[in-house]
Amino acid sequence: MDNMTDEAPVLIAGGGLAGLSAAAFLASHGIRSLTFERLTASSPLPRAAFFHMRTLEMFRSIGIEEAVRSQSEKEFVPDGAIIAMDTLSGRKLADIIPNLNEGVDALSPCRRLFLNQPSLERILRNCAHEGGATIVPGAEIVDVHQDSTGVNLTIRKASDGRRHDVRGDYLIAADGAHSRVRAALGIDYEGRGAFSNSLTIYFTADLAPYIGDNPWSLIYVNNPTLRGFFRLNRAATAGFLGVNVVGDPQLDADAAVNAATDLSESRLIELVRAGVGKRDLPVRIDGYSRWRATANVASKLQDGRVFIAGDA
Ligand SMILES: Cc1cc2nc3c(=O)[nH]c(=O)nc-3n(C[C@H](O)[C@H](O)[C@H](O)COP(=O)(O)OP(=O)(O)OC[C@H]3O[C@@H](n4cnc5c(N)ncnc54)[C@H](O)[C@@H]3O)c2cc1C
Repeated sequence: MDNMTDEAPVLIAGGGLAGLSAAAFLASHGIRSLTFERLTASSPLPRAAFFHMRTLEMFRSIGIEEAVRSQSEKEFVPDGAIIAMDTLSGRKLADIIPNLNEGVDALSPCRRLFLNQPSLERILRNCAHEGGATIVPGAEIVDVHQDSTGVNLTIRKASDGRRHDVRGDYLIAADGAHSRVRAALGIDYEGRGAFSNSLTIYFTADLAPYIGDNPWSLIYVNNPTLRGFFRLNRAATAGFLGVNVVGDPQLDADAAVNAATDLSESRLIELVRAGVGKRDLPVRIDGYSRWRATANVASKLQDGRVFIAGDA
């Protein structure tokens, strides 16, 4: 941090999808930015994957569409389908989107695609770097103040806990759903609130026999044990199951939307097997994460020289 630049026209809080995108697009306009990311290494969790035409059009404008598309083809079947099944090995309930681009491909020269979030973040980070942006990992924003001419941030370095002040003309708050910047500015959320306390289970299991040659990219499952969705690697040997609802909401609505109460390995294996529809399926649990499905929006997206972006 001692050698770190301590000013830039634009400061960015958070080096996730929104922060890295902001850094890359600002760089394409020749605007220098300084991004602070609390984590020392980016999150390996796959999270977002479905990217729309307008996003790809924007990526084309900064020269990364081709890199995004070729990485997508390594991870997903091109033009894959979004379907609903009772279980992965069971009965198809609906073709939600039978082919990702069918019916919309005349609307744009760019095509919708799937790409795991860590891969997209890597491409955006490289693009931002090449354009002259500075991204500082292991740097947590602990305080924010603005005045009529700029914004001051206090940064705490993860490696030694030391604090450092930086100043910019503007700040983009892209520090995620629990945004400290948004809270510091006293900006509330408005909206429906949480729908469910959801669970994502990362696992390894041979699901190729159930996927076969089907071009499925996102598979919703809906059965008496759970409602959720599978996203798998191209070989269908590993992936994750997102679980939004467990059991029957008619019988116990509270329990149904709290999928993440029992996180024992045996319960996680039971849920994966229920999603696949195979009671004896060999499954290795690689990890899990808890998250809330929430429909909220900040009550304002700008406060003076600070702009709120992404999940913040
Ligand atoms: C299982 C799952 C599946 C999903 N699928 C999709 C999908 O298909 N399509 C879709 O559009 N979205 C999807 N999402 C949501 C998507 O992942 C988020 O909307 C996206 O990550 C938001 O990006 P962001 O940059 O705003 O926030 P984040 O990705 O949360 O990034 C915020 C960053 O700020 C950092 N940070 C936080 N506080 C500080 C601080 N004080 N100082 C410095 N840094 C800080 C964090 O470490 C983090 O890296 C999914 C999410 C999950 C969990």
